[in-house]
Amino acid sequence: MIDWAGRVVPFPAELVTRYRAEGLWGDNTIATELHRTASRFPDREAVVASAGRYTYRELDERTDQVALGLIRLGFEPGNRVVLQLTNRPETVLAWYGLLKAGLIPVCTLAAHRAHEIGAISRLAEAVGHLVDGGTSFDLVSFAVEQQHDHPTLRHILTVGADPDAKGVRIEDLYDVDTAAAARAAVRARQSHVDPDDVAVFQLSGGTTGVPKVIPRLHAEYWYNARAFAEAWEWDETTRDAHLIPLVHNAGVVCGMHAVHSVGGCLIVGTAAPSEALPLLVAEHPTDILIGHSHYTWASQPEFRPVAERLRTVIFSGAKVPPALFEAVESAGAVPGQLFGMGEGLCMVTGRSAPRQARLSTVGAPISPLDEIRVLEPGTEDEVAKGEVGELACRGPYTLHGYYDLPGHNAVAFTSDGFYRTGDLVAIRTIEGGCHVSVEGRIKDLINRGGEKISAEEVELLLLQHPGIQSAAVVAMPDERLGERACAYLVATDQPIDLVELRRHLDILGVAKFKWPERLEWRTALPLTPVGKLDKKRLSAEIGALVTAEQRTR
Ligand code: AMP
Repeated sequence: MIDWAGRVVPFPAELVTRYRAEGLWGDNTIATELHRTASRFPDREAVVASAGRYTYRELDERTDQVALGLIRLGFEPGNRVVLQLTNRPETVLAWYGLLKAGLIPVCTLAAHRAHEIGAISRLAEAVGHLVDGGTSFDLVSFAVEQQHDHPTLRHILTVGADPDAKGVRIEDLYDVDTAAAARAAVRARQSHVDPDDVAVFQLSGGTTGVPKVIPRLHAEYWYNARAFAEAWEWDETTRDAHLIPLVHNAGVVCGMHAVHSVGGCLIVGTAAPSEALPLLVAEHPTDILIGHSHYTWASQPEFRPVAERLRTVIFSGAKVPPALFEAVESAGAVPGQLFGMGEGLCMVTGRSAPRQARLSTVGAPISPLDEIRVLEPGTEDEVAKGEVGELACRGPYTLHGYYDLPGHNAVAFTSDGFYRTGDLVAIRTIEGGCHVSVEGRIKDLINRGGEKISAEEVELLLLQHPGIQSAAVVAMPDERLGERACAYLVATDQPIDLVELRRHLDILGVAKFKWPERLEWRTALPLTPVGKLDKKRLSAEIGALVTAEQRTR
């Protein structure tokens, strides 16, 4: 076990014993689980993308070789590596290669910049930075910059980069030795990795000014994925298409790990229709996860031939419009829903829930040992059944604490260890079964096409501009992305324009998806009767404004 010096809150021992006794948690690391699947299904396809395809044997061998290469570069067990990757097959190879070398991937986004990466890589004490070399923003040069004055970062790794680019290309680690030597090296490394130790650092959707890191452990994280696969009745014939970011909790749990826990095939695409649609037509997925930013795809005529061969379309991120649901049904696939979070809890409708439950709810938790409560916000009292309240949860794959945040952990959980999600839900009874309906949230964030923006984080950044006296960032409705960020501002002197505001955030190195897309200047921001910023009022105001504008368009 790595010595985390109190920064990782372990699952209570009695629960771990129970999860093992009931066959939920296994005794293997994620790397060993992948190897076991590969040994069962060596010739089945494991990963398919426009740029390449791998059987399980190939995936297992190549990732052994990547691991051996990483070990030879001097990476030590437990070293953290920050990931900024896009959806390509090498991402999957790099992912398992890191895990096989006993390293801990830190799941940041390719869209993150100095503001985010600087803080997260320091908090995680990352020694490696693995970037995509093929994005329009030069992530390789960015990785070089990030090493300046960094206390721990010393290795740059790349995928998809030019041979003469800085850093070590993951692709150059293939074939570095015989398969047998690489396997032996991986086996030796894995024998020192505890299945109850940290496997991966995920990032929280976040509501505070600092990024929150979620430690995910080997046994619980793999179980999370296995339970997800079971909930959708997946097996080795499943061909699951994943178009939203792979290095994200949903990409890992519902994409890579879930499909690889059953011996199925992961079809890796991107959210660009010109790339993804031909891939989907050619590769015949059986199942697909559709994130909110591409919900509308499901009703496009180009998607119809894909949908006609699909078993299941899993919608996630927001309520599903009935017309979309019907479009999927009329093509012969079963539409369903998913609710998930980096912190753990995962709820799905599965394929067999009543139609009304699949249409209007996110179903039920995927594990028999998941426990959920709906609480009166700010209390530990449960609301009456059917009433809306804050979702709180506890279970075999939900965190017991954020990394190194004892102060926040003290308020993020109830006294008996239920994680307060900040989401508002109600339990609906449909055809005699209980199903969870998402009704909103009390946490202060903006969900921009699945990427979460912490309002507080952006407000603090805005206040660093000398022209801004007060700031409130709220979600404004958006047809395509669901929500975008709108900033209500009070000027110190004269209002600044959006261009100046963006320049300011760019200088601070803030990821673009967090930049407010609309400014509303006021002489003062509204307060509640107790003197707090009245964000509810501002949200309602911008909602009404945007709706009125849409009507007059
Ligand atoms: P993340 O950890 O980035 O996956 O974000 C998790 C959060 O996304 C949840 O706490 C919810 O606020 C939101 N979310 C996830 N799934 C859904 C869904 N099906 N409907 C509405 N919100 C969702």
